[in-house]
Amino acid sequence: MELVEEIATRLGIRAERGKRFADLTSLRVGGAIDWVLTPDTEEQAAAIVYELDKAGIGWRPLGSGSNVLADDADHHYIVLNLSNMKGEVHIDGELVSVSAGYSLPRLCIDVARAGLSGIEGLGGIPGTVGGALWMNAGAFGHEIGTVTEKVRVARDGKVVEVPGDSIEWNYRHTSFREGELLLGATLRLKPDDPEQIKARMDDAKSRRLATQPHGARSAGCFFKNPPASTIGTGKIIDEMGMKGQRRGSAVVSPVHANFIVTEGENARAEDALALAEEIRERVRREQGIELEYEVELWRASGESVDKPDERSGE
Ligand SMILES: Cc1cc2nc3c(=O)[nH]c(=O)nc-3n(C[C@H](O)[C@H](O)[C@H](O)COP(=O)(O)OP(=O)(O)OC[C@H]3O[C@@H](n4cnc5c(N)ncnc54)[C@H](O)[C@@H]3O)c2cc1C
Repeated sequence: MELVEEIATRLGIRAERGKRFADLTSLRVGGAIDWVLTPDTEEQAAAIVYELDKAGIGWRPLGSGSNVLADDADHHYIVLNLSNMKGEVHIDGELVSVSAGYSLPRLCIDVARAGLSGIEGLGGIPGTVGGALWMNAGAFGHEIGTVTEKVRVARDGKVVEVPGDSIEWNYRHTSFREGELLLGATLRLKPDDPEQIKARMDDAKSRRLATQPHGARSAGCFFKNPPASTIGTGKIIDEMGMKGQRRGSAVVSPVHANFIVTEGENARAEDALALAEEIRERVRREQGIELEYEVELWRASGESVDKPDERSGE
C-alpha cells in the first residue's frame, strides 16, 4: 500500500485516485491529481496534514474550487478536499462557529434566519467558509474578515485557535501563509430583524443575477480591480470591446467582461489562461494598467503564477 493511502486509512480518511481538477473546480478544467484526500472532521484534517508534512509529501487545500484555475498537466501532489468537512453550525448569542468545509451561501441563510447580520452581502458567493477566509471573500460592502473573531488552524496535528485581529484582511488577500490549513472560524455578527436581513441578502443576490453570468462555468471575477483606477476591471475590458472574445473553449462572458467562462466537455485550462493573458496584454498596452489575477493559478509543478511573497504580504 502506498504511504499516502496507509496514512489516510489509519486516520479514517477517504483517499481517491483518478480525480481531475476538471471534476473539482467550477471552471471544470484542469488535469489529473495523484491523490485526493477528503477528511470529514477538523481533527482528521489537522492530523492528516501533520502526517503528510512529517513524511515530506506535498499537499494543497481545496474547498469548492470556485476560485482556482488548475492547468491541464498531471498534478503530482495531494489535494485535500475540504468540502466534506462541514460539521455543524453553532450559534451562541452573536457568536457563530462553523467548520471550513461548510457552504458560505448556506451559512448566510442560516444566520439570517437566526437574526444575525454582517454577512448577508456574501450570500451569493459560491464556495466554502475556508475558501472565503483564505481569500477574504467579499461583495456588496461585506467582507468575511471584518466579522471574524477567531480562526481555527492546524498546528502540529492539533486544532488551534488564532484571534481574527492577528490576521491581515486585505482586498481578496490575507496574511495566512501557504501551507496553513484553516479548519473553521468563529464569527461575531450583530442581531437584527431576520426579515430585513433576508431582504438585504435577496437584494444582493438579485443585483448579482442582473450583472453576472448565471449557471455558466466560471471562477467569478478573473482579475482584481486596479487600485489606482476609478473604473472596475469588468468595465475596462468591456470598453476594449472584448466581451464574447474566444480562445478555443474559453470565452469572455458577454454578461460581465471580468468573467471568463469555459464551454464544452473537453474545455482546457490552457484556453482560459491564453485568453486571460491576451486581456492582460491589451490592458497593459492600451491602458498602462497591470492587471493582477484574482483567480488562483495552480501549476502542475506546484508553483502558483502569483508570487508567494505577494500572497503572504511579505
Ligand atoms: C459565479 C462566481 C461568483 C463569485 N463571486 C465572488 C464575489 O463576489 N466575491 C468574492 O470574494 N469571490 C467571488 N467568487 C470567488 C469564490 O467563490 C470565492 O473566492 C470563494 O470564497 C472561494 O471558496 P472555495 O471554497 O471555492 O475556495 P477554493 O476555490 O477551493 O480555494 C480558494 C483558495 O483558498 C484556499 N483554501 C480553501 N479552503 C482552505 C482551507 N480550509 N484552508 C486553507 N486554504 C484554503 C485554496 O487552497 C485556494 O488557495 C465567485 C466565484 C464564482 C464562481
